[in-house]
Amino acid sequence: MQPEAINPFDSLKAGSQAIQEKWITEPGKICVLTFDKPNSSANTLDRATLEELARRLDQIEASPDIHGVVFISAKESIFIAGADFELLTKGPEHRELLAEYLELGQRVFNRIAALKVPTVAAIHGACLGGGYELALACDYRIATPDKRTKIGLPETKLGIIPAWGGSTRLPRLVGIPRALDLILGGKTPNAERALRLGMIDKVVPREWLLRAALQVIGRKTKAHLPFWRGWGNRIMATTIGGKARAEALRRTRGNYPATIAALDVIIAGAGEGFGDPAPSLARERKAVSDLAANPECRNLFRVFMLQEHARKVAKEAARDVPPVRRVAVIGAGVMGAAIAQWLSAKGIEVLLRDVDASRVGAGMGRITKLYADAVNHRSITPREARDGMDRISPVAYEAPLKRAEWVIEAAVEKLAIKEQLFHGLDAQTLPATLLATNTSALPVARIAASTGRPGRVLGLHFFNPVHRMPLVEVVIPEGGDPDVKRRALALVQQIGKTPVVVRDTPGFLVNRVLLPYLMQAAAAFDGGASVEAVDTVMLDFGMPMGPLRLADEVGLDVALEVAQTLAAAYPDRMSVPPFLAKMVEAGLLGRKSGRGFYDYPGAKGEPRTNWNALNFRTGGTAPDSVSLRDRMVYRMLDEAARCQDEKVVATAEDVDLGMVLGAGFPPFRGGPLRYADSLGAESIVAGMKALLMEPCARLQTMAAQNQKFYEDAAD
Ligand code: NAD
Repeated sequence: MQPEAINPFDSLKAGSQAIQEKWITEPGKICVLTFDKPNSSANTLDRATLEELARRLDQIEASPDIHGVVFISAKESIFIAGADFELLTKGPEHRELLAEYLELGQRVFNRIAALKVPTVAAIHGACLGGGYELALACDYRIATPDKRTKIGLPETKLGIIPAWGGSTRLPRLVGIPRALDLILGGKTPNAERALRLGMIDKVVPREWLLRAALQVIGRKTKAHLPFWRGWGNRIMATTIGGKARAEALRRTRGNYPATIAALDVIIAGAGEGFGDPAPSLARERKAVSDLAANPECRNLFRVFMLQEHARKVAKEAARDVPPVRRVAVIGAGVMGAAIAQWLSAKGIEVLLRDVDASRVGAGMGRITKLYADAVNHRSITPREARDGMDRISPVAYEAPLKRAEWVIEAAVEKLAIKEQLFHGLDAQTLPATLLATNTSALPVARIAASTGRPGRVLGLHFFNPVHRMPLVEVVIPEGGDPDVKRRALALVQQIGKTPVVVRDTPGFLVNRVLLPYLMQAAAAFDGGASVEAVDTVMLDFGMPMGPLRLADEVGLDVALEVAQTLAAAYPDRMSVPPFLAKMVEAGLLGRKSGRGFYDYPGAKGEPRTNWNALNFRTGGTAPDSVSLRDRMVYRMLDEAARCQDEKVVATAEDVDLGMVLGAGFPPFRGGPLRYADSLGAESIVAGMKALLMEPCARLQTMAAQNQKFYEDAAD
């Protein structure tokens, strides 16, 4: 058999059809359906594609001498990226359309599952959501080991559940515990891991993908699940169902209804063993119809769309910009080391510089740990980690940086130090080198003015922890070179982060909104509220971490510096509780020093409240939990409204995306401005006044004129 003869891509022309059909007669009559949506880099299962697939199935079902069917994609990085769920952002008038769409997908996939001949999903690239549900309806799944191949059902992250059979078929394939872990966590492992988990049957290089699929069909056997899986799942459903539900409720604090809905559908379906899947499929559909009516679902989906849009804009900007190969990172502390690790993991050569050998050594230690953790979490292989480490060259003196295309400075947050450092960079780098600062709140224009090339200086503000936070604020000082912005967006895109362009004003967007909230939390602690009370109310609100714990992670010294910069810039409403400076003086710097608001017992133990921190507070009356939460939340909403008013970022969407990705503002609330719209300006203004807080002029006007930030704000 010649591989050329069975190449499904050769006859493909971007026509009007999303699926190309090709019949192969060796080793039998096999139909290869190749997904290749015209004029798009992605395949999705929109209504038209599903209908087209149904027509192909008509032919396949009517073909008497067929041996099997292969589903494959012609795209470079995508098998099928999932369903087209734009209907989720629409109002209740679209509910019926959504129900029909769900039914259509289930019907088509049931027909694939019912075919009498073997079926194979040959997966290269992203195989997500509906794409993996199609693969689950097949007998066999073969995937490439390529980095771009990711497999799974991430629906719960969008506030829905897999409803084209995924919540029913995955538990049957891999068993209840794994299915719960994968679906509730919205996990999308690579091919090797998916193989270990039983999600797929084989991993083969891309050149062999189709041939391997044809070989499987040549065996002429339909797949059979292990006979014990049905009753195994039934037992599991009764034994672990209740506990898993309690655990999911505890973990999500009731904020993510899709997680609980997915769990209920999986457990109920598993309780039916290997019986008729129809009742479970009906439960899937009902769950999505119910969830789509919730604002949580719409908000999660909107945030997803905003992120996609921001990435697209960056990708567009990156066109014709050659990839960056060498970057110098200055400062090997918490941020410098983490940025160096991230860049090196993305294939960039990094020179990491600090003032002495012990600090550079400490930075390399941090990097080694970050790589070790990534290997332990299986996000990279040991070999990739070694290659990444090899790309970093540490230096402990003011080495010349003539080979660097970019310099990213992450030294201490002091204007004088940064100015001096940038002044020196002028001579140490080539004139074309772009100079970026990772400052949290200092004016980038002032730093730029200390160089002879202010037009080529900008802010690239990463967030802590770098490997987890997807946002980078791109700060272009007024009068900056437009080409610099383009190259900055291209670099952020190259390293897989999401950029938001912000104006050069103190604290930019995220810290300007976040710091007043952290200071409000610190003031509540100072006034007598316990560390646990302060952090718990905000965890319940949906923040991924309580504010005092976050301050510890940032570093109390860094938080203090940033808070002081902001207090100086906005004295009318921002101040720093004096006890914070005393904690810093006493060496309580948060996690990096082992103690802050919490005590950090080492790598393994859970942080516990640091009782010693209580000695620093000045005392007062602890507020009740509702006003405690309202104070912190109102401060964020108010500052976000000011940022929008002052055009710190271009749009309300940018405010929301920035705060969700940079500060962990609960995505199911849609971002601070969406959330403000859901409360209504009038209610926020009244609430703030009741707590003796002064709402900004923008909110007051909006309250008086019954305005919203978004025109389509309904919930
Ligand atoms: P850090 O104190 O952990 O590290 C700063 C490092 O810079 C130290 O190793 C120090 O020796 C080094 N340094 C000081 N002067 C230097 C010089 N002249 N040349 C080379 N190295 C020098 O601080 P960090 O938390 O990593 O913060 C670094 C920068 O990143 C600050 O501007 C901070 O505001 C910003 N930032 C911090 C966070 C955070 O959460 N910590 C988040 C975003 C941005």
